Amino acid sequence: MLETTHLCVDYGGVHALRDVSVQVPDKSVVSIIGANGAGKSTLLKTIVGLHRQSSGTVLLDGQDISRLKPHERLDLGIALCPEGRRLFPDLTVYDNIRVGAYRMRDSKLFRQRLEFLHEIFPRVAERGQQIASSLSGGEQQMVAIARALISQPRILMLDEPTLGLAPKLILEVAKLVQTLHSQGVTVVMVEQNAKLALKISDQAFVLETGTVTLQGRSADLLQSDAVQNAYLGGQAA
Ligand code: ATP
Repeated sequence: MLETTHLCVDYGGVHALRDVSVQVPDKSVVSIIGANGAGKSTLLKTIVGLHRQSSGTVLLDGQDISRLKPHERLDLGIALCPEGRRLFPDLTVYDNIRVGAYRMRDSKLFRQRLEFLHEIFPRVAERGQQIASSLSGGEQQMVAIARALISQPRILMLDEPTLGLAPKLILEVAKLVQTLHSQGVTVVMVEQNAKLALKISDQAFVLETGTVTLQGRSADLLQSDAVQNAYLGGQAA
């Protein structure tokens, strides 16, 4: 179980997160939804160690990991696919994916993981030697997810994986999350597409200006008036 307890994060005078407690059970899909600037990315970045909390804790299996460095959290199996993909545009697809394996010392394991990724991302595999910037937005998103998956994380954190993608590719990302879920990977997904996020997750948290205002089973939130009015245009999901 991954959880945060009473997490507060400040950027100078900006209180980005206030008293945020979320729980992510093993092998579940959890979505974090909320408006722009609600603190969703800050939450993911703090969990992976890219931001330091001013108070509160991040716990993995009950152990406090709040003071560990990002690479130490990666070694524990927590990987982030950041918002905006953040690929190295001038490197090949293959080299971008290698970046995600920088902690992996076993070259046999690396090859095995690469084969596994080739199975779930055949188009990425075909373009291994292509420069990343020459790929379409959807293909770049798949490379960014493959880079996070190469380390075989037990918990994959996806920050806005469908942002800017065409409807067909949005469905591909949704399918991928479901495939990973069926393989036992825990997925934490930040999404502005609240309907999609609630449909493919088990549990969800709604963040508003740095605070959790709603939480529960995604299926229940999908039906709730508060979520429908604020995030689903007031229409039945
Ligand atoms: P979006 O969907 O627009 O990415 P978000 O919910 O992910 O939004 P965050 O990016 O976590 O929100 O931002 C939360 C708050 O913290 C916002 O008010 C934002 O302006 C502020 N913030 C984020 N990063 C920084 C930073 N590096 N320095 C100062 N303020 C920041």
